[in-house]
Amino acid sequence: MKTITRKSLLYKSGVEYADYCINHVEGCSHGCKFPCYAMMMKKRCGAIRNYEDWIKPKIVKNSLELLNKEIPKLKGKIKVVHLSFTTDPFMYKQKEVPDLTLKIIERLNKDNIRCMVLTKGIYPKVLKNTRKYGMNNEYGITIVSLNKKFKNEYEPFSAPYKKRIESLKYLHDKGLNTWVSMEPYPTPNLSEQDLGDILNEVGFVDKIIFGKLNYNVEVSNYQDNKIFYEDCANTVIDFCNSKGIEYHIKYGTKKKDDKKTEKIFREPLNNEVYSSSALRIYG
Ligand code: SF4
Repeated sequence: MKTITRKSLLYKSGVEYADYCINHVEGCSHGCKFPCYAMMMKKRCGAIRNYEDWIKPKIVKNSLELLNKEIPKLKGKIKVVHLSFTTDPFMYKQKEVPDLTLKIIERLNKDNIRCMVLTKGIYPKVLKNTRKYGMNNEYGITIVSLNKKFKNEYEPFSAPYKKRIESLKYLHDKGLNTWVSMEPYPTPNLSEQDLGDILNEVGFVDKIIFGKLNYNVEVSNYQDNKIFYEDCANTVIDFCNSKGIEYHIKYGTKKKDDKKTEKIFREPLNNEVYSSSALRIYG
């Protein structure tokens, strides 16, 4: 895999529920066609030319050196670090990416910094080793459908849905915190599907984020999209309330945003204190 160097790595995110963020890879071989907002931004600023460039990821080779410099300066300010918003930290079939991500998580956890991870790939089982990776990280997958045809069209090179869910369930069964991002959720003209079926598949998780699909003309073409997303959001809320799952509905999905839920990732689950003495050992 090609490499690049960067001048900084940890940055304050503008995403509503997020705190600090790390993007240690440029590009993403999952090649999503929702479209991928990160790819659009990289194209706009001239970092890549096109989709073909985007799906050939380049790893930030000085990531760990940068972290060693930045962590001491920012440690007191960081509540949680998100991996990642403009790439995928457990990119499917790209071994070098998960290898580096594991080192980054280990490095952050060593300084008692919690990680919030999101992938369309597969989690390695080694994460169950909480002596190395800590106990208060939160591991998430994106699941917006169970429809293989939809996946092949919109996330062509990501991990199969079933494998993604299995790897998350494995971490859940080992006592780790898990979550699901159901964003960008498609309208029925893109995928005929039952939201309840998807929720039931991931009903073991601790937190769910739900959000509409943006920047896609097909969504605007779906006449009742506002009513559709309002109904979906309410279904998610009812499901989460019935199961005791924390949730956040992304802004702009419902007619009225609920600002109270945006903090669900900034505080540790059940307000657990992050300290090495609080670690439960499963590894
Ligand atoms: S997984 Fe995320 S970063 Fe990668 S192509 Fe898909 S939307 Fe973009």
